[in-house]
Amino acid sequence: MIYELKNTMPDWLEPSLVRLWYALRPLVRRIFRSDSHFCPVCESRVWFFLPHKWSNRHLRVVCPVCFSHTRHRQAWLFLKQRTDLFDASPKQLLHFASETMLVEKFRTITGLDYLSTDLDSPHAMAHMDITSMDFPEDSFDAIYCSHVLEHVPDDRKAMSEMFRVLRPGGWAVVQVPVSDSTTHEDPSITDPRERLRLFGQCDHVRVHGLDIVERLETAGFAVQTVKGFDLASTSRTKKSSPVARGLQQLLYPCARNEPINNASFNVASGGFDASHACYGESRFMVESPSC
Ligand SMILES: [Zn+2]
Repeated sequence: MIYELKNTMPDWLEPSLVRLWYALRPLVRRIFRSDSHFCPVCESRVWFFLPHKWSNRHLRVVCPVCFSHTRHRQAWLFLKQRTDLFDASPKQLLHFASETMLVEKFRTITGLDYLSTDLDSPHAMAHMDITSMDFPEDSFDAIYCSHVLEHVPDDRKAMSEMFRVLRPGGWAVVQVPVSDSTTHEDPSITDPRERLRLFGQCDHVRVHGLDIVERLETAGFAVQTVKGFDLASTSRTKKSSPVARGLQQLLYPCARNEPINNASFNVASGGFDASHACYGESRFMVESPSC
């Protein structure tokens, strides 16, 4: 539903509509108010989440207040619980794809020098190719790169570039749609319908498998695999609960140069209270296909 609306909207109109929606958020939050679902990004308790695609409308993943998806909510929990992003020390963060609901959160973090970049998004502060960045090496302390690499023809080069522009001791959080087999890609497939059929979306050039960890390690990173479920820390959160079902996507925290336990990640879970939270249904496999 949100996906179809966005795809019919001209690019120049989207930033204005997003600003209008955000201005209306107090009203939206009041209309949707309930204790059944919780969004940690905008800290709203809402009645239900919205479907992303009408063709898959049983899969309700979008927060009606801030438009975050499951992956955004998981990433935000991870950043808050397990990184040094909020310790107020001076840091430079590079954000690829500049998801609007996270941009406004990043901008409010004390001590953070924030830069968003994208190939052509009207929301980004800079336009740049992730496989050939104009930054010198050792430019950033942290990188957030979510659902970008599955669009990039040479994802290995993109990983190497992220490693190059990170300072020693820096870290990146990477998210991609992941299947439970090995990465499937074929550069000769350029037809959008074939990409949709094989890779899950008409502008995807591959579907990553669990071997994405090896690709990131080849670029030089020390990599962890974090299940969204691991971010919900209360004893009331069981694997069979709706909370757990909504947290099965994966995150890949990547540290530069140093062993992972010496990097900035806190391996222990934080204290987020998920007892009232439901992050919405999501899937371990690629998201539903639709062009
Ligand atoms: Zn939200």
